[in-house]
Amino acid sequence: MSKPAETRAAVLVDYEKPLEIRSLPIPDPESQAAIVRVEASTKCGTDVHIWRGEYAAAGLSKLPLVPGHEIVGRIVELGRDRKVDALNRPLAEGDLVAWSYAWCGSCFWCTVARQPTACENARMYGWGPADRAPYITGGFSEYAYVMPRCNIVKVPDGLDPAVAASATCAFRTIIHGYEKIGRIETHETVVIQGSGPVGLYALAFAIQSGARRTVMIGAPEARLDIAGRWGADLVLDVQATDAAGRREQILELTEGRGADLVVECSGANAAFEEGMDLVRRGGRYLIIGASEPRPAAVHPTYFNLRQLTVAGTMSGDIPHYYRALTFLRDHQDRFSFGDLLGSRYSLEEVGQALAGMESMREIKPVIIP
Ligand SMILES: [Zn+2]
Ligand SMILES: [Zn+2]
Repeated sequence: MSKPAETRAAVLVDYEKPLEIRSLPIPDPESQAAIVRVEASTKCGTDVHIWRGEYAAAGLSKLPLVPGHEIVGRIVELGRDRKVDALNRPLAEGDLVAWSYAWCGSCFWCTVARQPTACENARMYGWGPADRAPYITGGFSEYAYVMPRCNIVKVPDGLDPAVAASATCAFRTIIHGYEKIGRIETHETVVIQGSGPVGLYALAFAIQSGARRTVMIGAPEARLDIAGRWGADLVLDVQATDAAGRREQILELTEGRGADLVVECSGANAAFEEGMDLVRRGGRYLIIGASEPRPAAVHPTYFNLRQLTVAGTMSGDIPHYYRALTFLRDHQDRFSFGDLLGSRYSLEEVGQALAGMESMREIKPVIIP
């Protein structure tokens, strides 16, 4: 394989406007970089927020931009010194790979704290800008540029590239979250709030980890059906129940104590406020979805008097990518991960995919450039 000089890409030129198909240069890779042919990109809820311009004021997204940060691709060209993946396995043209964001490797968070996902100089995929090198750092493009600081991991054989792509944001974030909040014990009840891709992956991981009971709270029905099929012990539709009723059912399931671990994957403040009432005294609460700009109403005594452990995470580093991909490969017979994926769209149809996601018709649309 050899790389062409240019690639077609779906470019966001103006917030909330349809994306334009443009030709962008494919740079020659720097010594530690790589060029990949994008095999599949999946859409993340964050792509919708980026499209609306919600992160523009903070300077996070930069127009014009090629969106898409859940990507797997086949290597078409490796930089001179990029020879192995994160597990020291040789890399070659044609390998199907995923890659982490580019952490700087030299700030306090990268070196002392060893929390690269908090790196102050992180360079992320799908946030632009696409008008200067290396141009193609988003997944809604035929080719993508893997920056020198990105760790690369090979995608295991026998995994649908679209399923693998969905691991590179949603699932690796969950793996990171569970790592931070601590292991799930076999006597524990885990409540997941939110039945989007993050919530469903959180459910699969809790079940596979041996949780005694799992509860999924979410909507709409099609997503709750997946949770039921995957083995959730109790599925509660937020549209058909109220918070008091849900609490009652969870208390009943836990001899009146409440859940040992609650995982917030819904993004809504109402879920966070409700979750504080679902977790038992001395229990744990993991916050992953929260994204509302307004503050939530929770009294600080919830944390000390009830002795809660609360953790928040976002993103993930290369070990989380590796573990997410391995989990998907190993447990795809038990959990029908493909059910999370929506229709497949071409680059020209990225706008339709976005609309499908906004209306919740689609859980996770797939872009095949
Ligand atoms: Zn994402
Ligand atoms: Zn850093």
